[in-house]
Amino acid sequence: MSTKAYQYLTPTLMTSLERIAGRGNVLTSAEDLEKYSLDEMAHRRPYRPGAVVIARDADIVSGIMRLASRHRIPVTPRGGGTGLSGGCIPLHGGIVLSLEKMDRILEIDETNQMAVVEPGVTLGALQEAAGARGLSYPVYPGEKSATLGGNIATNAGGMRAVKYGVTRHFVLGLEAVLAGGQVVNAGGKFVKCTTGYDFTQLLTGSEGTLAVITKATLRLGYPPASREILFVPFPGLETAIEAVPDILRCSIIPAGLEFMERDIIQLAEEYTGREIPCSRHGAFLLIILEGNSREEVLQASRQIENAVRRHHAVDVFVPPSEKSGRDLLDAREKFYQVIRRLGRVELIDTVVPRSLIPRFLGQVKDLARRHGIEVIAYGHAGDGNVHLHPVGRGLSPQDWETRLPALMKAIYETAIEMGGAISGEHGLGFDKRPYFQAFASPELLGVMKAIKHALDPDNILNPGKLF
Ligand SMILES: Cc1cc2nc3c(=O)[nH]c(=O)nc-3n(C[C@H](O)[C@H](O)[C@H](O)COP(=O)(O)OP(=O)(O)OC[C@H]3O[C@@H](n4cnc5c(N)ncnc54)[C@H](O)[C@@H]3O)c2cc1C
Repeated sequence: MSTKAYQYLTPTLMTSLERIAGRGNVLTSAEDLEKYSLDEMAHRRPYRPGAVVIARDADIVSGIMRLASRHRIPVTPRGGGTGLSGGCIPLHGGIVLSLEKMDRILEIDETNQMAVVEPGVTLGALQEAAGARGLSYPVYPGEKSATLGGNIATNAGGMRAVKYGVTRHFVLGLEAVLAGGQVVNAGGKFVKCTTGYDFTQLLTGSEGTLAVITKATLRLGYPPASREILFVPFPGLETAIEAVPDILRCSIIPAGLEFMERDIIQLAEEYTGREIPCSRHGAFLLIILEGNSREEVLQASRQIENAVRRHHAVDVFVPPSEKSGRDLLDAREKFYQVIRRLGRVELIDTVVPRSLIPRFLGQVKDLARRHGIEVIAYGHAGDGNVHLHPVGRGLSPQDWETRLPALMKAIYETAIEMGGAISGEHGLGFDKRPYFQAFASPELLGVMKAIKHALDPDNILNPGKLF
């Protein structure tokens, strides 16, 4: 996609931005530009925008897009900045369009079990508001300060996808502003819709490259009546993953089914200062069960215990209190922070058919040995989403820089040969872009580029991402 001849933000254009968005909503101080130049992806150099515009409503977003399209200024939409693949980083400068202050929950509709939200509402705020009305928004992509606009734009997944699905399964309607400033509404407060192309789903996962999301209608559910957590140690990863199909045959599908190895558990113990039960074993499954009654959950728990013991589980640890269960989940949620402390790290969130996780991880370990880079692995065993962290400890900066790209490429190649994909939930941003270009079929890339060109012919919306 062409990124040539973008226009700089001249003083006249700055004045226009202030006229559209209001003076206090256009940030240009060095400190602000720095703050909006990164996301949570580890170890990247910052890319500063020319200005940050804080949008307060869809009219302002539309005005900014009209101006940007007239003058060919790049616009990078941004929510909470918690992304892990550089999606909201303004690679080509221009405007960072922050949606974080469009943060009103417009409606919790108890009758239809739906919420209507602005894009800057955080995941945590929606969960709280839904909970206060006896409802729940069950998708849980890890970071509560992420915005729903960001969750939708990345089709965020998380731990509970195995039972409840990912963000796209909850997005029923969207209001969005196109590159030229036109406002489009698609979908709505209904579950079924076969009325032309599904624009709502096209925008979900589009990483801010097709339109700016300014409102969303999301499906809600009812919270489970009962929950149980099982932490199951195994001698090694192979036996742990082999137990997964049997676990998924039990009477209720677990809300979460996570795998991890000893190395990350020990790092988490050091980081949190809390001992994790059974931590000396080789590999673990963390299983979250949710159901409509205590009996239902206990019955499933017994079935799972029998299943994992058939697969050589060493023990089945059931946290004795709400707090110890919470501590276990909390340790799991901190894995990324734990690993970032190790210095130079990369994050791969590839996805493979879940039955192939052991074979995939076996090959990753071989590749890691051959390339001389340590790789820490954990992930969502129930949905095949494997998080891999190449870590640079013990390597010189030069060895790291020269060995890493070949390792990354080989890992993606392996995943794709197994019928997998480059990103399961974090998106491509610009971090995974080269691998997407290298491995996507030319036909599919052609279709995607045609869609991008139809909606954003001047390539001003989040340029440099995906393609
Ligand atoms: C500790 C930690 C744990 C995490 N765990 C998970 C996890 O389990 N699962 C998971 O999927 N992710 C996880 N993430 C990643 C991150 O939280 C998600 O990618 C999230 O969806 C990003 O939301 P955000 O509001 O921060 O978006 P940003 O980082 O601001 O932006 C992400 C992308 O969305 C686009 N975008 C943002 N808002 C809009 C909008 N209104 N319209 C159009 N485009 C928009 C941006 O241009 C960018 O491409 C984790 C991150 C951290 C730091």
